[in-house]
Amino acid sequence: MRFSPEKLKVPDQRMKPFIDPQEIWDFINNTKPDKQRVREVISKSLDKQRLTMKETAILVNSAGTDLADEIKQGAKELKEKVYGNRIVLFAPLYVGNRCTNNCQYCGFRTSNKGAVRKTLTDKEIIKEVEALEDNGQKRLILVYGEHPDYSPEYIAHTVKTVYGVKKGHGEIRRVNINAAPLDIDGFRTVGESGIGTYQIFQETYHPEAYKWYHLGGKKRDYEWRVTALDRAQEAGIDDVGIGALFGLYDWRFEVLGLVRHTNHLEACYDVGPHTISFPRIKDALSLNINGQYQTSDEDFKKLVAILRLAVPYTGLILTAREAPDVRREVMQYGVSQIDGGTKLELGSYAESKNEAQNLNREQFKINDPRSLAEVIDELLTNDYLPSFCTSCYRMGRTGEHFMEFSVPGFIKRFCTPNAILTLSEYICDYAEGTVVEKGWKVIEKNLAKLDEGVAKNTKEKIERIKNGERDLYF
Ligand code: SAM
Ligand code: SF4
Repeated sequence: MRFSPEKLKVPDQRMKPFIDPQEIWDFINNTKPDKQRVREVISKSLDKQRLTMKETAILVNSAGTDLADEIKQGAKELKEKVYGNRIVLFAPLYVGNRCTNNCQYCGFRTSNKGAVRKTLTDKEIIKEVEALEDNGQKRLILVYGEHPDYSPEYIAHTVKTVYGVKKGHGEIRRVNINAAPLDIDGFRTVGESGIGTYQIFQETYHPEAYKWYHLGGKKRDYEWRVTALDRAQEAGIDDVGIGALFGLYDWRFEVLGLVRHTNHLEACYDVGPHTISFPRIKDALSLNINGQYQTSDEDFKKLVAILRLAVPYTGLILTAREAPDVRREVMQYGVSQIDGGTKLELGSYAESKNEAQNLNREQFKINDPRSLAEVIDELLTNDYLPSFCTSCYRMGRTGEHFMEFSVPGFIKRFCTPNAILTLSEYICDYAEGTVVEKGWKVIEKNLAKLDEGVAKNTKEKIERIKNGERDLYF
């Protein structure tokens, strides 16, 4: 359902900037972080209720290791209770790094004259996608700089090109986008090419800080960016992803900014963001920020747990910017998607060489360079259920996280069986060595958790997959 202005219970805030920095600081400064209140807030979330800005502020303000541990424990419990052990896998594909902006934290910014600029040709896109399919990838996020070359029509063209690449049993079933904000017509053009999520990170929600870091180009315009996903909604894209780049400003402010953004989208469009991302700044060519707001590992872990508790029905994305040990721990606090086998250099998936990163060719340094197979191996060892599921989006079941969260039995009827089926395909087509055995074992364990009828249907489909059929889902 979509709200028309007259149906809105609150004044129509669509397309209007919704961040009031003073309001956010007041929440942070006027919240007493007492133990009792922190515990009440955690149990409210465990009771499957959304947290308010004030309640989130109580969590961000909590001090001491004991309370941080309780918050992390709460997030872990919520994940286990609501979402179970599935982790969805994807890979980023950098299509072009031309850029007219001058973001001080990014290797692609205009002032980086030493950056090697490249836009993949159609042929190169196809080669990259074939290489990704050969690894078993089914879900990609296409990434672009902001440049007149990357018009909505061009982005739509690249999306269609990617969907068209089929190699063996390989195909890409969901293409998400991370690109510059567009106008409504532009979003419509890209939306019509059949994308999954359109992701735009605000970087920092603090308007003044935003000005310090964005020194040139269209991205200087805070309001254009903060209202971007409103325009996406107006253009019919109701699957959007938000994010903040941690390390630019006070992490507590950014967490409340993300919650405020979520509230805004929910109030205006009746649908919150599909995903929240929380990248931390990593080394980049001539990185030009002072480390004043660097987010420590401990704060990072806590903030992910707080986001899980504050917006319990939103997908959380954790990327290979983080090292395997950080990923291993943070994953427990409610992460739903991770990338695996990530390479950032344009054109590098199709190259077999496995060289160290070359920062004048890449946006930033990644800290988890493991292959998809290695990531899956570890997930299986730790009893996670890796998933390449794209079913909800293709069946038109939008708001899947919300359904997982709120519809009783949804996960057992759809998510777990679909995760099992996509993992079965992966094992049959791409897995080698011990992953095969580990994979079937994890499938067995998860089949045992399903209701009898669903388990039977799933087992039948697994047999069909073993006999060569593909893309079976509920
Ligand atoms: N050009 C588009 C834009 O700016 O929206 C695409 C975004 S960029 C290719 C993807 C995201 O990477 C950015 O939104 C930013 O949050 C993040 N990023 C940029 N520089 C980074 C760095 N040094 N370390 C970690 N993440 C970074
Ligand atoms: Fe360009 Fe995006 Fe990098 Fe900014 S973050 S310089 S807009 S690619």
